Amino acid sequence: MALTHELKTIELDISSCRKCPLGNIRNNPVPGEGNSNAAIFIIGEAPGREEDLTGLPFRGRSGELLNKIFSACGFNRDDHLFISNIIKCRPPNNRKPLPEEVRSCLPYLFMQIELINPKILILLGASALAFMVDKNLKISRVRGHWIHQENRWIMPVYHPSALLRNPSLKKDTWEDFKKIVQKYRELVNPDHYSKYV
Ligand code: URA
Repeated sequence: MALTHELKTIELDISSCRKCPLGNIRNNPVPGEGNSNAAIFIIGEAPGREEDLTGLPFRGRSGELLNKIFSACGFNRDDHLFISNIIKCRPPNNRKPLPEEVRSCLPYLFMQIELINPKILILLGASALAFMVDKNLKISRVRGHWIHQENRWIMPVYHPSALLRNPSLKKDTWEDFKKIVQKYRELVNPDHYSKYV
């Protein structure tokens, strides 16, 4: 399929990318994974250790928690979602991405979003919110609130690593994901099944 081919081309560009120094120290780039026709595009911050070793996004503890949330929503990575990050290579010691790394890398994410053309974007945590919407917004204030931008519905939520550090945030996050399921039914499939929503 043409779309898949174009996404593969972006992946190839990412694998040979040396636009920032992270390209020289990574084990594997992590371009993203999921359905090339996904209605929901999920954006994290940057690959961590497991992701750098496997080349796949959200494979560590944060990924396991995300999978549980997706499953409760009736979503899975193969059918409903595409998952990627603000930057595609792991920063040393999982530090926050530097502005110049983001500047070099963000065009790949924008190309992926344009090709996949999702109806819903889920921003996981402060970095995704800062670079996709506005660096002056606080995740604790805007999480759970829809932002309508360029004909897409954007939902900021806490990053799963924040939920692992502070489990009391899980309750709010579940409320946010319930809104996402409802929006998916409204925009994509009114019959979407979730056991819990
Ligand atoms: N955290 C992220 O933001 N992205 C990953 O892919 C893994 C952990």
